[in-house]
Amino acid sequence: MWARRFGNRLLAFLLLLSLPTCTRPQNANRPARAERFALRAARMLDVTSGQVVNGAVILVEGDKVSAAGANLSIPRDAKVLDLGDVTVLPGLIDAHTHITYHFDPSGHFGLEGDASSDITLKYAEQNARDTLNAGVTTIRNLGAGGRVDITLRDRVNRGDAQGPRMLVSGEPLTSDDMAGAGNATERLARIREFVRARVKEGVDVIKIFEGVYPDGEAVFSAEEIRAAVDEAQRAGLRVAVHAHEAAAVKAAVRGGCTSIEHGTFLDAEAMRLLVSHHTALVPTLYLPTHYLEHKGQFAFDDSTWDFFERLRAGNLANALRAKKAGVWIVAGSDAVAGVHGHNAREIEWLVKAGLTPAEALRAATLDAARLLGLEDKVGEIRAGEFADIIAVEGDPLKDISTVERVRFVMKGGQVFRDDLTRR
Ligand SMILES: [Zn+2]
Repeated sequence: MWARRFGNRLLAFLLLLSLPTCTRPQNANRPARAERFALRAARMLDVTSGQVVNGAVILVEGDKVSAAGANLSIPRDAKVLDLGDVTVLPGLIDAHTHITYHFDPSGHFGLEGDASSDITLKYAEQNARDTLNAGVTTIRNLGAGGRVDITLRDRVNRGDAQGPRMLVSGEPLTSDDMAGAGNATERLARIREFVRARVKEGVDVIKIFEGVYPDGEAVFSAEEIRAAVDEAQRAGLRVAVHAHEAAAVKAAVRGGCTSIEHGTFLDAEAMRLLVSHHTALVPTLYLPTHYLEHKGQFAFDDSTWDFFERLRAGNLANALRAKKAGVWIVAGSDAVAGVHGHNAREIEWLVKAGLTPAEALRAATLDAARLLGLEDKVGEIRAGEFADIIAVEGDPLKDISTVERVRFVMKGGQVFRDDLTRR
């Protein structure tokens, strides 16, 4: 029910968007790039071991880290940035965002759509700046209309806009896309066609809205998910599936998806399947709280609000059960209007669910990089990886809320935020 309702809402929202006509930026503020940096900080979190290294030095050449460790000697020609009494850690990765979602000028979401994709893009660019500024240097954006996510990703990659590295899905597959497909063969053909269309548009990942019908049957069968996964794999892409109910999760996992988004109502069998298929769970724990605490700004109906209450009531215990069962948990905030720039709240909620701070930070760095297929590029501060480095005051292993107070952001060797040094 939920998937169908949300699918309709999403589609209605998407239909309001027309094709983008790209404009040049008025003043894309590009930070100057130095050839060699040496970052010094009191502490560095090694997310792989979960240990803090004291007296950290990170050498950056171009867009990559060339060395990182305790008390390394600093080359003479390096520009030294002494960050002081802070903890540096890899740039955060948010595996589930909606970078194009925003409040309208009256402060609401869902009452009216944007008049054009250009307008959506402007909001999305602000969201991308806020996201990067908060220390999130990579996102996986799961669901956007009008190809705005693709346009934004390309503008960020060209340096025409400031934002995190982006993997984007374009439009998600919903049950609405199956309207008029008469039989199983037609449905499978429709699904493959959908994936090929997204690949042609240049997406990085495929997003599917799975759900259950009132009789408990999954909206997309395991065979149908497998068709999408197979078609995506031909293009080297992975499939992320929105699923809350256990039956929906099981069909998606059996179909070979890479991650289950939300997965709020898992049963023992669903957890066993997640573990045996090594499918990631992105539990998006904070979002229901965000909605419920900002009720006046979101135009949802009563049954949707009831649904959010059920999510909030059960999602922490569900995630803890999954963790204990050995499910691979990755951080994703489901950032919608009002969450961009507060993505790290999800890391706090993962700790509320029972992950240790080190585990939660790993879920938002190294493990997220693995889910996105970006391991060895981002997710750790290590020689050869992109210099995506952030700093927080204090020690996030002792107080996880420090990740919400980021003071320094470097992405690919470029400093985008620096509240710590006078330059
Ligand atoms: Zn979402």
